[in-house]
Amino acid sequence: MRPNAFSNDGNFYKGNLHTHSTNSDGKLSPELVCKKYKEKGYDFLCISDHFVRKFDYPITDTSKFRCNDFTTLLGAEVHSGFMENGQSWHLLAVGLPKDFKPSNTQESASDLAKRCSESGAIVSIAHPQWSGLTLSDAEQISYAHSVEIYNHGCAVDSDRGDGAHLLDLMLSKGSKLSLIATDDAHFRSNDYFGGWVEVKSKNNNPEELLQSLKDGNFYSSQGPKIYDIDINKERLKIKSSPVNSVILVGYGSASLANHGLLMTEAEIKFPKGAESPWVRIIIIDGKGKKAWSNPIWRDEL
Ligand SMILES: [Zn+2]
Ligand SMILES: [Zn+2]
Repeated sequence: MRPNAFSNDGNFYKGNLHTHSTNSDGKLSPELVCKKYKEKGYDFLCISDHFVRKFDYPITDTSKFRCNDFTTLLGAEVHSGFMENGQSWHLLAVGLPKDFKPSNTQESASDLAKRCSESGAIVSIAHPQWSGLTLSDAEQISYAHSVEIYNHGCAVDSDRGDGAHLLDLMLSKGSKLSLIATDDAHFRSNDYFGGWVEVKSKNNNPEELLQSLKDGNFYSSQGPKIYDIDINKERLKIKSSPVNSVILVGYGSASLANHGLLMTEAEIKFPKGAESPWVRIIIIDGKGKKAWSNPIWRDEL
């Protein structure tokens, strides 16, 4: 089986889904943020300002910065309700309508996630490690599509950029989530151009990109590129840019690794009796930069 990200027709489009501007607590104007990402070679961007009263509930309209080779998705980082630690929830909603209504004070994070999802957005649990999010917090959000496995801003500014622990617990509970790497850039530190998604789509337009994101037809990266994944119940074959490690993880402590030098193809055979309900693949290059596949479910092989 080859995941749709690799078997579907189209191209990979590089985008950052989580960014802030002067419409909330970011340093740069929406126009300048778009310009910086476009100049860096990104194909698309979502400016996801904090959708709270303090900033007058912004859905930053970046549509006027779209051009032939660069597009934008509209979205926001939304907040309502409190986590177990008493702090406010952070959910990333990409693909919101411009007229998305603010929460009333009673709206739970779960209901807000549902409302975002029903408005057409892909909803992600943002920076779980930075938030101190627990598994029971996360289990309340039944309308999440995805978890941030890497949040570059949180990694740079607090060394809490990782989402793998929470994601893997949720996968092992049976939640069919995808994973995203993002910047969460505010341009107040070196918190940009560090984590992104590579989305397979026929065209670089907001509608097709959003559908591919919701369908899980993408992978996430800090640098390495994944060209192909071919997996069945006996083995994994992967083609990538040069990497030194290919790692496969699954339920509980399940993991397998293949190490080498500047590998562009690798094969990992599964031991007899290995029956993790899900696996995901991580590749790591010589600089320690990673790329992550979305989870692959055994019942789809
Ligand atoms: Zn946040
Ligand atoms: Zn943010």
